[in-house]
Amino acid sequence: MTTPIVGIDLGTTFSLVGYVEGGAPRIVPDPRTGDRLLPSVVHVREDGSVAVGWEPRRRRVVNVGSTVVSVKRLMGKGPDEVRREEPRLPYEVLDPVLGAGRVARLRVRGKVLTPPEVSAMVLRELRGWTAAAFGEEATRAVITVPAYFNDAQRQATRDAGRIAGLDVVRILNEPTAASLAYGLDRIGEGTVAVYDLGGGTFDLSILRVRKGVFEVLATNGDTRLGGDDVDAAVAAWLLAEAARETGLADLESDPEVREAALFEAEAAKCRLSVETATRVRLSVPRARLDWGTALSREQLEALSAPVVDRTVRPCRQALRDARLEAKDLSAVVLVGGQTRMPLVRRRVAEIFGCVGRCDLDPDEVVALGAAVQAGIIEGKVRGVTLLDVIPLTLGIEAMGGLMSKVLPRNTTIPCSVSEMYTTAVDGQNSVEIHVLQGEREMSRDNRSLARFQLKPIEALPAGLPRIEVTFAVDENGLLRVSAKDCRTLRQQGIEVVPTYGLTETEIHGMIEESYDRAEEDVESSLLASGRVEADLLVRRVRKALAEPDFASGDERVAIEAAVGDAEAAARGSDRLALLGALHQLEAAAQEAMQRRADRVLGAALRDRRIEELL
Ligand code: AMP
Repeated sequence: MTTPIVGIDLGTTFSLVGYVEGGAPRIVPDPRTGDRLLPSVVHVREDGSVAVGWEPRRRRVVNVGSTVVSVKRLMGKGPDEVRREEPRLPYEVLDPVLGAGRVARLRVRGKVLTPPEVSAMVLRELRGWTAAAFGEEATRAVITVPAYFNDAQRQATRDAGRIAGLDVVRILNEPTAASLAYGLDRIGEGTVAVYDLGGGTFDLSILRVRKGVFEVLATNGDTRLGGDDVDAAVAAWLLAEAARETGLADLESDPEVREAALFEAEAAKCRLSVETATRVRLSVPRARLDWGTALSREQLEALSAPVVDRTVRPCRQALRDARLEAKDLSAVVLVGGQTRMPLVRRRVAEIFGCVGRCDLDPDEVVALGAAVQAGIIEGKVRGVTLLDVIPLTLGIEAMGGLMSKVLPRNTTIPCSVSEMYTTAVDGQNSVEIHVLQGEREMSRDNRSLARFQLKPIEALPAGLPRIEVTFAVDENGLLRVSAKDCRTLRQQGIEVVPTYGLTETEIHGMIEESYDRAEEDVESSLLASGRVEADLLVRRVRKALAEPDFASGDERVAIEAAVGDAEAAARGSDRLALLGALHQLEAAAQEAMQRRADRVLGAALRDRRIEELL
């Protein structure tokens, strides 16, 4: 039996997994605890093993240098970009190994990991949850990304899925997923804006819903704007106040103090979504810090307003791109934990002139929508079609460092366009093409996606060769490039390795490593259960040996020897040796145990009537 395709919301703060059952999407919970949200937090233990989820999240302050949070912000980026954008990461950012891709690497407690590998750990944990629901782990998934993710970030997300052993059948935009979760029955036909403010990213999409077709008209946003920025603003204020009142210097440069301030800032922020005032306490004994303050909702709003206000421009731009005005919208849907903040809801009402809808849990709505998309692919959900768009303009570098636009933003996907190239110099036998993504005029201000060489080209006088290059964006928003020499009609495949992506070889290496690890993990859990079994059996046999009539002579000697062997094997780490010793012990003690059982049963039966026993 194949397992259902699952829908995964791989979030900055939390991740979730869902699937469609009986025509409706549902969330798969953690089978051990019933939790529906998995914190996207990874802790590297001293022995190099990793833990994912609530425990690492709870302990992230004390484990600051060995814990990775908000890794989604680092996806698809090079080391320089990461260092520039996240100057305060509590772990080292390494340059790539020579000859490998250009993706950033993180050294977390001596373990070197790329952001896709860290995300893969979160995905693997969610896969584990699905085993309890389906009998075996899911192997295929739809994974959501912010609509505003560029090609490199999408590729990195897909790589994470592959490293986690998942066939990523679709990369889906989060706001589009949210509108699918609301579905026709909730929002009806009309034009809907989806306002998605999560932990790390802001997305705004405008969709037209007509006759079961969900058509994205425009999308805009900011991949570096979210609840984390509110936490950072509040934490900075807390640290400044704490420094002023306690006279302690350099609080800001102590990573543990900073992490504690962020943690408390976030907790206070969430409390202030329902309360109007709260208390915040910063306690880091090592730094001799133990300080508290009151914080009102009003103060929080003053600190967060600059962050929340940054969502206004993308909303207006998306409306302009869709050639709509706010009054044309039939509904605004709220997505992302940060939209629980009353200030955010007021801003949304001001921008769009109507109250944002939040009838579905903003934490779950994206995963539910991803599950619906999985259901559409599997044919379990019918009558719904999705037409998504590319979020950013794709282009190539032209003469003079200008960006020549090839596919403008908000073009419906899948889409493709062909451009004709030729040579500038006589006898030139190759052409370099630099693919860019972004809205700026100059190439250097846009994101470099890939560079590749078209070769060999027939050596002809300048301007004679005619090479047709086709840029195609698939339904995942991922770019493919192919080229054809129009004179020879020779088709050329071009491998487009994103500038900040992982190479195929690296991905394979990581997949293999995770298989090796999986074997190691299975091996150690089998060994642990073998030890438990040994402990139980040894105790039972030892108890029986204490009875004088249990066994005597050679039989007793053999049983005692087998008990000793089993105990020694349980102290070692050879699982097969332990299994062998257990079999030996069972065999040696079997007859004596049987005789003992008969005696006990006989004694119990004596003097009792048959009816009583039945
Ligand atoms: P998401 O990326 O959608 O999981 O959103 C996570 C963000 O929502 C984090 O910045 C959280 O601090 C924030 N958040 C969660 N619950 C609340 C709440 N009750 N009030 C304000 N912000 C919240």
